[in-house]
Amino acid sequence: MRLVILGPPGAGKGTQANEIVERYNIPHISTGDILRENIKKGTDLGLEAKKYMDQGNLVPDTLVLDLIQERISRADTKDGFLLDGFPRNVSQATSLDAELDKLGIKLDKVINIIVDPKKLIARATSRRVCPTCGETYNIVAKPPKVEGKCDKDGSDLIIRSDDTEETVSRRIEVYTEQTSPLIDYYKAQGTLFDVDGSQSIEQVTEDIFKGLNK
Ligand code: AMP
Ligand code: ZN
Repeated sequence: MRLVILGPPGAGKGTQANEIVERYNIPHISTGDILRENIKKGTDLGLEAKKYMDQGNLVPDTLVLDLIQERISRADTKDGFLLDGFPRNVSQATSLDAELDKLGIKLDKVINIIVDPKKLIARATSRRVCPTCGETYNIVAKPPKVEGKCDKDGSDLIIRSDDTEETVSRRIEVYTEQTSPLIDYYKAQGTLFDVDGSQSIEQVTEDIFKGLNK
């Protein structure tokens, strides 16, 4: 299973990605997570990427392309992978196709999560994350058992620095302008299927599994 998950900020991509990688036992490759790890460690890549991320803009293609190229050539991707947050524009998608071509493989499916744009800001700004284990919560759709604490390790949950209303609005704009053209790109390849992301988390997961089994 070689998969891509697409959807605007606030669509619940990360939550669904976790369910998918567990079910299919494939690595979850999130360029956003890799970039945030680099920021945490203070690497050159992290320092460079942070400027763009804090504004809600995409980091330059060259930075993510190098990173993704290295990641998808690792041994653990032999039986597949789920790309989350990559590709983010058509140029990244064509580079990915070229890279997969070199490896003699193809994408099997592209999952497209759809949510009413009017609801995205509220959904994206209600996200909370655990700084220790990375688990994601949503104070409306998926609250922790104890308010403000991670279910797994009890850490105090935080708001991602790019989840402020201003940055979320910019990220939605960037999605609309640069990422949403990928929907037609993958439709033309015949790999994309839509899922209604406004349903319960469980129902969205079920629809994704149905689409993947077709
Ligand atoms: P995410 O965790 O996927 O929401 O990504 C958070 C931020 O990381 C984005 O707003 C971008 O600034 C940056 N980012 C993540 N993936 C990419 C990508 N494929 N291309 C460019 N920027 C990215
Ligand atoms: Zn935790």
